[in-house]
Amino acid sequence: MKLINMVSLFFPNRCLSCGKDISLQKSLCEECAELIDGPVMAPFSLPYLKRAYAYWRYETPLKELIQTYKFKDRPRMAGIFADMLFDMLCVFSDNIKVVVPVPTTVQAFRKRGFDTNYLIMKSLRKRISIKVEDILVAGGGRTPQSRLGVEERKESVKGKFHLRERTSAERVLLFDDVVTSGATASQCAKVLLEGGVKEVVLLAIAKAKGP
Ligand SMILES: [Zn+2]
Repeated sequence: MKLINMVSLFFPNRCLSCGKDISLQKSLCEECAELIDGPVMAPFSLPYLKRAYAYWRYETPLKELIQTYKFKDRPRMAGIFADMLFDMLCVFSDNIKVVVPVPTTVQAFRKRGFDTNYLIMKSLRKRISIKVEDILVAGGGRTPQSRLGVEERKESVKGKFHLRERTSAERVLLFDDVVTSGATASQCAKVLLEGGVKEVVLLAIAKAKGP
């Protein structure tokens, strides 16, 4: 199903991005949905990761979609992002069959009632044969990353993640919704490599402008 149709499955009657009136069950108007229908950015590099891919920039209208999903309790929107990941895996098919989501902290889980990344993975699994291993655990609640500078972000994620169990896979995909400084993704990749994984490739929905 084309992304534009998926985006149409969900609620409000105003475009989340430009505010234009749209029919019920949509979340973006056609013009806004077309902007993000199909692109995958060029790979970029981050410490500890073999490669990193993002579907699009963390900008309007994708930014509004992600924020609505995460902060306004719209778990049903997970399918929209699973479609984007599916597109990415079609472009980059490196035959990696295990995906590990970056975990939600316990505090964020309690607040939202769902693990945003894991839910997208569950939705992806309906579309493609891939094993989801929820083996990373995030420690305590800290200052939200968005309020920290680059150096503070690097410090705040050190020691934050650990492995609940090892994976038998030698190569894994790491999934996070938004990459900002990349500190979280790098730290998760480091933990996976220390746990015996040989290669980690990052998939993200959106990448914010570099630090
Ligand atoms: Zn619009």
